[in-house]
Amino acid sequence: MTIEKYIRTIPDFPKPGIQYRDITTLLSSAEGLRISVERIADHFADAEISCIAGIEARGFIFGTAVAYKMGLGFVPLRKPGKLPGETVSVAYKLEYGEDQLELHVDAFEDGANVLLIDDLIATGGTAEAAVRLIQSTGGNVSGFCCVVDLPDLGGMDRLRAHGVDCLALCEFEGE
Ligand code: AMP
Repeated sequence: MTIEKYIRTIPDFPKPGIQYRDITTLLSSAEGLRISVERIADHFADAEISCIAGIEARGFIFGTAVAYKMGLGFVPLRKPGKLPGETVSVAYKLEYGEDQLELHVDAFEDGANVLLIDDLIATGGTAEAAVRLIQSTGGNVSGFCCVVDLPDLGGMDRLRAHGVDCLALCEFEGE
């Protein structure tokens, strides 16, 4: 069963030249959602994961579903100013400008094996920043998974260079 068929492509969103890979059509399909969550949980079943982390906002959707399926807890990596407790923060480059992610300093036990989840990886800038943030609080990123990989942009290779076991459920050419 291919996951690609559940993803809708919207040309020129949010700006000309971008092929936006829309996961809302996968989420609204009971079968698409179930297969996605099961594939991720199956792949990492023997990886001794202790906790799931998800990147705001679409990483929360898949991350909590996978956490529930695997019988684990969930930790959110959030945009600045959203988390109420003491946080650590990391800035990272976007195509235009910069963004930040934040994490509670006490989110993970020291040496926790974390599975990081997002909806899509493009350049890998967001996921790499999340890996650095988790490591800075004592977590060990044992795995990363996303529903869509855009391999032409090289994000997965960037993450594999950190020794992370990477899984994508489907790939699309181009940006
Ligand atoms: P990056 O940091 O370059 O890997 O970008 C990843 C983030 O940007 C993900 O959280 C995606 O939600 C979003 N994103 C980047 N490119 C696309 C695209 N073509 N379609 C949908 N979302 C995208």
